[in-house]
Amino acid sequence: MKIICIGRNYAEHIDELGNTKAIEPVIFLKPETSIILKKQPFFIPDFSNDIHYEVEVIIKINRLGKYISKDFSNKYYDEIGLGIDFTARDLQQKLKNQGLPWEKAKSFDSSALIGKWVSKSFFENINDINFSLKKNDKLVQIGNTSQMLLDIDSIVAYVSKFFTLKIGDIIFTGTPAGVGPVKINDTLKGYIGDEEFFEVKIK
Ligand code: MG
Repeated sequence: MKIICIGRNYAEHIDELGNTKAIEPVIFLKPETSIILKKQPFFIPDFSNDIHYEVEVIIKINRLGKYISKDFSNKYYDEIGLGIDFTARDLQQKLKNQGLPWEKAKSFDSSALIGKWVSKSFFENINDINFSLKKNDKLVQIGNTSQMLLDIDSIVAYVSKFFTLKIGDIIFTGTPAGVGPVKINDTLKGYIGDEEFFEVKIK
């Protein structure tokens, strides 16, 4: 399986990092080895002094597809969840400055936290999902999928032009404003509405 991530999909987050709005969506991949095993903490890697959390709505692909049209996108996923796209911001900045790819900063071991999954039918409207992240019980990120520049169905259609989607693939749909650093002993908790979708300890 693979993890496909969308970057710069919320206007306020683009502003907070001083990026310009992309003309086309930013896409990057995380390998299977980036997934944090169930109930494991996140260990800060020694190659970064500035690991950031990015809470994101995630979807799981349940059908093989390529060149999916937006009208049929919703048939290709039936579970929605919440995750964290852990990012070595210092390393990413260095790579960006050099015009180099982001993998070392985005796709390292344990850079993908995947919380629990619920059926899509759980939501009245997937383009109106409230989600949030608390760090040490303090609210740090809050978003709603209606704020996405590219909505979930459009993301599925767009990424499937480049990458064949396979059963079990996961898409990270981008983070809203409020990203920030973690340090040892922090606890991150993610919510969709009032329901907790994950809890992870930083070590
Ligand atoms: Mg992200």
